[in-house]
Amino acid sequence: MMVETMISVDEALERILEGIEPLGLERIPVTEAFGRVLGEDVCSSLLIPPKDNSAMDGYALRSEDTRGAGSGSPRVLKVIGDLPAGSTFTGCVERGQAVRIMTGAPIPSGADAVVMKEYTEAQGDEVRVFKEVKEGENIRRAGEDVRPGEVVIKRGTAISPSEMGMIASLGLPFVTVYQRPRVSILSTGSELVEPGEEGGEGKIYNSNGYSLYGQVLSTGAIPSYIGIAGDERDSLREKLSLALKAGDVVVTSGGVSVGDYDFVKDALKELEGEMMFWKVAIKPGKPLAFGRVGGKPLFGLPGNPVSSMVIFEEFVRPALLKMMGRERIYRRVMEAILAEDVKKSPGRRHFIQATIEERDGTLYAHPLKARGSGILSSLVKADGLLVIDEDVTHMEAGSRVRVQLIKDDFLYQKRRAY
Ligand code: AMP
Ligand code: MG
Repeated sequence: MMVETMISVDEALERILEGIEPLGLERIPVTEAFGRVLGEDVCSSLLIPPKDNSAMDGYALRSEDTRGAGSGSPRVLKVIGDLPAGSTFTGCVERGQAVRIMTGAPIPSGADAVVMKEYTEAQGDEVRVFKEVKEGENIRRAGEDVRPGEVVIKRGTAISPSEMGMIASLGLPFVTVYQRPRVSILSTGSELVEPGEEGGEGKIYNSNGYSLYGQVLSTGAIPSYIGIAGDERDSLREKLSLALKAGDVVVTSGGVSVGDYDFVKDALKELEGEMMFWKVAIKPGKPLAFGRVGGKPLFGLPGNPVSSMVIFEEFVRPALLKMMGRERIYRRVMEAILAEDVKKSPGRRHFIQATIEERDGTLYAHPLKARGSGILSSLVKADGLLVIDEDVTHMEAGSRVRVQLIKDDFLYQKRRAY
């Protein structure tokens, strides 16, 4: 089947995503789970903390025994035990008694509060308490963190350090996650040579293969580098079938427009499967091939380096995240103040490379001057992409604009006051 019409960004994305299903599951050690996506809800069978325990180093006691205590009027209690973390005290704290306790140790029966060590003075087998404490003071309650039966982390969550710690605190050494797709990356174009190879007249280095490699890595999927196919039918067919063998998903760049040497389209047509060739109302970008060959999704991205990256961002990345079971698949979009006028032609949604600056708590977006679809250095400088709607032709400096953040780590050079 072949459809060749101009469709909107939203429609293209919807049509891509509707055919994408999450992959299967696997079990891995928690130490290997960083960045992976949880494949099932993590439920607790435990009470965390398991027992009421001390939030401070100090003395467990009966709060009534401290009534009236102050810096000049200590209460004197008999110390009947010592409770380092990890041990338990079997006795009971009676009136006039206290147990020396360390942070995390379970509160002995009879005691209902802990006084911080700083407000006490040990004297032989007695302790002088210089502060009144309320019932429950400095006690962490059993189950205040997690209760049995509770869903602690939801399926579809990306596992970050806090999730790793949480899973471990439930006593689980392994975790069930979604499998990661292998993504074959194939660059097309007879003008391309690999970095490290001899350049020469009319040749340029293959950059898309490497930016796409990084983009695949940044989704958490596994890139599989196929290399370059020249603009000849046979070379392309051969490399494409390699790509299809090596990956669960194939991403190609170049050769999808309407030039005489745009063989990717022909090669894809020849492959059995369903391919769609779209003109998407997007800039940079426009030509995009999407389809399925032997059940595997295939994305034919445009060749211009910025187009290739932006189209990956907008369409391939959400699709890969969905395949990996992620619940949240879209980049963060912030509102910012446009720092300079922007003009554009109507009809397509524009994604414009911009830097972001924060001043007095407000974000300002500076569109980069050189931002053509061949200017890859613009994406090196950019923090994000201004998203400007189809029908808009002019945005004035000072107006509100949406910025999609495209770098995984958006860090500040100067430490912010807080
Ligand atoms: P195409 O879509 O194949 O017509 O390519 C459009 C433009 O992008 C041409 O100037 C190509 O040389 C350039 N281009 C295509 N593929 C790559 C690549 N892998 N790395 C760098 N530039 C490329
Ligand atoms: Mg080409």
